Amino acid sequence: MENPDTVLHIEGLEFAYRGGRRLYEAFSLRLRRGECVGIVGPSGIGKSTLFELIAGNLRPRKGRIEHGRLGWVFQDPYSSFHPSYTIAKQIEEVAATRDFAEHLEALRLDRSLLERYPHELSGGQLQRCSILRALSMEPDLLLCDEPTSALDNITQLETMKLLVRLLDRVGILLITHDMDLARWACDRIVELEEGATTHKGVA
Ligand code: ADP
Ligand code: MG
Repeated sequence: MENPDTVLHIEGLEFAYRGGRRLYEAFSLRLRRGECVGIVGPSGIGKSTLFELIAGNLRPRKGRIEHGRLGWVFQDPYSSFHPSYTIAKQIEEVAATRDFAEHLEALRLDRSLLERYPHELSGGQLQRCSILRALSMEPDLLLCDEPTSALDNITQLETMKLLVRLLDRVGILLITHDMDLARWACDRIVELEEGATTHKGVA
């Protein structure tokens, strides 16, 4: 990417599933390190599809997607960890660094929690572990798909606060159906509406 601060650049994206309606048309978006951009819209509008496109699991019909190193945080922390291995083992498997422990304090995680199995942790603790796992991959761009919607309200806010605090090192693309949350957390919001996924002016 021409600008080292750019962690995601989408230009003129067009996409539809085979036989499905067009989900993206002339969609452009640029995200820089230090920014949190929200993708907000109702269920079925194409939010998760955008992440699959960015991750390279789906191919656009038209357009270009460039990005730095990716990290992911999914909605349900229990299904994003394997139940039969410790957290530590599952982080070590994907970590780009042995130094992920530096993030423990920022995420308010006790090191001993990492030696446990997923079901031994609360939802909030486990979601912080999945943020830790994402950070251990040393990402430029953090893709968060409804990262707090499986958590109770208080834990949700705490977790979002921790995520936003990481912004000096990453750019965050936050998928949510919760406009209040997006308004609170995001520098910019891209609202996806039925029949109006054309966002020519967003870049
Ligand atoms: P969201 O994350 O906003 O709820 P999705 O991106 O998951 O929406 O889905 C957008 C639309 O694409 C939905 O209508 C969904 O049914 C459809 N869709 C999702 N995945 C596939 C697929 N693999 N094949 C065909 N259609 C799909
Ligand atoms: Mg989705």
